[in-house]
Amino acid sequence: MTFGDLLNTDQLILIVCDECNARTPIDPAPHALQAGLAADISQLAPAARCPVCGSAEIALRAHSPVENRIESPAFAK
Ligand SMILES: [Zn+2]
Repeated sequence: MTFGDLLNTDQLILIVCDECNARTPIDPAPHALQAGLAADISQLAPAARCPVCGSAEIALRAHSPVENRIESPAFAK
């Protein structure tokens, strides 16, 4: 999946941490500007760290903020 694919479908990059299970969405736009729309999001993986615990044991996924709002009761208070 490329940065262009994500931007065209209004999706974010989701960093899923294997260590602490944090799921952190990040904006693909700055990375797209740097790497180009045709670059694959997997190229971020070697340098990506979990923003919560700093672990490098992460997976990158596509993430729709709209879907998350509907499916994730964890955010409802
Ligand atoms: Zn973590």
